[in-house]
Amino acid sequence: MKREFVAPGPALATQKTMDADAAGIAEAARVIGAGGIVAFPTETVYGLAGDATSDAAVARIYAAKARPEFNPLITHVASLDAAREQGVFPAEALHLAKLFWPGPLTLVVPPAPGATVCAAARAGRQTIALRVPIHPVALALISAAGRPLAAPSANRSGQVSPVTAAHVAQDLSGAIDLILDGGRCSVGLESTVIAYLEGPPLLLRPGGIARADIEAVLGHALADSAGTTTLHSPGMLHSHYAPRAKLRLDATELAEGEAGLDFGGIFGARKNVLDLSARRDLAEAAANLFSFLHDLDALGLPCIAVAPIPRDGLGEAINDRLTRAAAPRERGDAGFKS
Ligand code: AMP
Ligand code: MG
Repeated sequence: MKREFVAPGPALATQKTMDADAAGIAEAARVIGAGGIVAFPTETVYGLAGDATSDAAVARIYAAKARPEFNPLITHVASLDAAREQGVFPAEALHLAKLFWPGPLTLVVPPAPGATVCAAARAGRQTIALRVPIHPVALALISAAGRPLAAPSANRSGQVSPVTAAHVAQDLSGAIDLILDGGRCSVGLESTVIAYLEGPPLLLRPGGIARADIEAVLGHALADSAGTTTLHSPGMLHSHYAPRAKLRLDATELAEGEAGLDFGGIFGARKNVLDLSARRDLAEAAANLFSFLHDLDALGLPCIAVAPIPRDGLGEAINDRLTRAAAPRERGDAGFKS
């Protein structure tokens, strides 16, 4: 049978990577202005940015990630003032924004009357997720693009999040227009997501700012999204952050043929073991987490044993990611991942 020639899709790109210097940022802003999508460093993980005011650009982000369209994106802006053009902040949310922005905190609030972020970025919801990142490249890119940027993590839906430009290239090769290489992300965990909807504020996702630090300034506990439906936290169910290898959590020793993700040196000096933090520092463990999962997975062993990690401070988010990475997966089912 004769094969028809199929023309390549519009502007679907190459594997171009540029250093995140002035020239790279200018080119990234140009690409975004032309409707393209660009991977860029933030302090949390690498993001995949497009014009948050453009349905077409946002559609390209969902397509490149194979992300389910009901899972909304975080909009990144350069300042609190820019955030207030897009969202309506109750007094307490404003208090958190002033204390923790720029930084790894995302606030979900009702959209402002004149909001320009498109409905697709909000997955059609009457809420909007906003964040001001602190990474200088992220801030420079938002300013140079001159518009809010929709940016989920720069990985295919359900995969381990990227903390280097090389991780992005491995996962999204050929599906995006440009990668800005700004080195390794310092926090290494996605942002903490808090929703101000009806009722008390809800912790939708533990992340780079510990729950206790937020509760300390609020003077009260955050409600838990555990038990709420996907109506509130659409991206937080099922398998996610999943390496190819199986994960065996809370392991106290290594079995034959396993790789090891250690914490505090309990596995001892063994082959195929990486220690998230020999000195039991949770910030160091968070910064190493996704990078070490990538490295151990590349060994090609069937199982990664994971040492117990305390649940306090950033340990809540680390354990959250590990639990999802270990969850049973149904290949081909992209549901509930980001
Ligand atoms: P990612 O962009 O991959 O880091 O994931 C963003 C997270 O924020 C996901 O868990 C989303 O479901 C969540 N999120 C984004 N926008 C909203 C929103 N409007 N309401 C509730 N959750 C949201
Ligand atoms: Mg993600």
